[in-house]
Amino acid sequence: MTSDYINKVIKSVISRDPNQPEFHQAVKEVYETIEPALNANPEFQENGILERMAEPERVIMFRVPWIDDKGQLKVNRGFRVQFNSALGPYKGGLRFHPSVYLGIIKFLGFEQIFKNSLTGLPMGGGKGGSDFNPKGKSDGEVMRFCQSFMIELNRHIGQFTDVPAGDIGVGGREIGYLYGMYRKVKNIHGTGVLTGKGANYGGSLIRPEATGYGVVYFVEEALKDMKNTTFKDKIVGISGSGNVAQYAAEKVINLGGKVVTMSDSSGYIYDPNGIDADKLAWIMNLKNNQRGRIKEYAKHFGNEVEYHEGKRPWEKSMDVALPSATQNEINDKEAEILVNNGLIAIGEGANMPSTPGAVDVFLKNEIIFGAAKAANAGGVATSGLEMSQNSLRLSWTRDEVDKRLHNIMINIYENASITAKKYETDLLSGINIAGFLKVANSMIDQGHLS
Ligand code: NAP
Repeated sequence: MTSDYINKVIKSVISRDPNQPEFHQAVKEVYETIEPALNANPEFQENGILERMAEPERVIMFRVPWIDDKGQLKVNRGFRVQFNSALGPYKGGLRFHPSVYLGIIKFLGFEQIFKNSLTGLPMGGGKGGSDFNPKGKSDGEVMRFCQSFMIELNRHIGQFTDVPAGDIGVGGREIGYLYGMYRKVKNIHGTGVLTGKGANYGGSLIRPEATGYGVVYFVEEALKDMKNTTFKDKIVGISGSGNVAQYAAEKVINLGGKVVTMSDSSGYIYDPNGIDADKLAWIMNLKNNQRGRIKEYAKHFGNEVEYHEGKRPWEKSMDVALPSATQNEINDKEAEILVNNGLIAIGEGANMPSTPGAVDVFLKNEIIFGAAKAANAGGVATSGLEMSQNSLRLSWTRDEVDKRLHNIMINIYENASITAKKYETDLLSGINIAGFLKVANSMIDQGHLS
């Protein structure tokens, strides 16, 4: 029985690393939704594909010593999990956040395998990061930390081996410092080794925008196909105010939707008149240059704007929710509130933002559920396009990259939707099965050691 096989593998994943709940959640979310594909392909069980996929090919953990502005020596922990290279070099971002430990990096690396597969580009799955907290640190401290991190990481990465990018706490500034150190220690201009680089030294246009734009492109396709509607005049709630949230907001505004919420880890703002392009530019300056808090928006834009300290935006009414902050940021109770307030679609900008209970509520109520692996794949897809441009030693125009990104998101939606119909299941399972099949078949083709 396939379900017995799935349960047995999940049990062994949990007992092997009992203290990694986020990783267990990510494995369960995939394995519990791909049963129809396992039933149709007995060779996956015969070849132990689920056991192999849940074990990273390689885990690297290292010491990152650095000196703060007071001259004190600090030590953080660095990680790179090289999860699966059946489709291509390991590819996935670096996260700098105090909550980072091996279980978080493994959950992100595992998800990345299927996400990268869905893009249709030749990229394996990996992820890395550190428990370093960039918040409140000076540029000099962030630079010294990044340099120390790369002094170790450089020996494990390369354009044909492993190509890191950004994630929470790692944006253009950090990628610049990391790349500068890589170049120095290797004595090569290996632009293909990191993505999300500045446009002056090998970065792709549209890469900063890509994850946020991609989420909106994905949801737009689903709205058209499943509900015969678009973003025009939709009320949209967004969480987070970082890279993904900012550009998701920008694209929603361009398509005629009304963004009413954004947040950070301290609380959320609600603007009943909508965050328009000028107000969004103000938020981008606040977050990207001044590194301030979202509550300052409420002070600046006056009385009608609400600020809710310590809360998340899901208590407000919205047609579309785009959670774009972090994992497990919508629980089952919040999902119920969203559904009761008329939610029609959710697009996961963040990785695994919905708890399993929340996912159940969305599926039970037939809400369009754009799961992270598909909906936020635009970032890594455009990283793939950055790698292509680096190899070709060419830079495509904004328009060219944006068109390619848009096409990739349309293809991801169509692939997931066709797969869901073929296996007579929902969009979530369609997403997971489509991502899984390509990797599983490649692992079989490449023999039992892959
Ligand atoms: P970012 O620029 O660092 O922004 C993160 C945002 O989320 C900030 O507003 C942050 O608030 C908030 N946040 C972080 N941790 C939180 C927590 N524990 N509780 C509440 N709010 C929290 O990061 P990002 O690149 O936008 O990434 C956001 C999400 O998208 C992550 O799940 C990431 O894995 C996913 N993602 C990113 C990309 C990409 O290309 N960047 C691609 C695919 C998926 P504070 O400033 O207060 O911490």
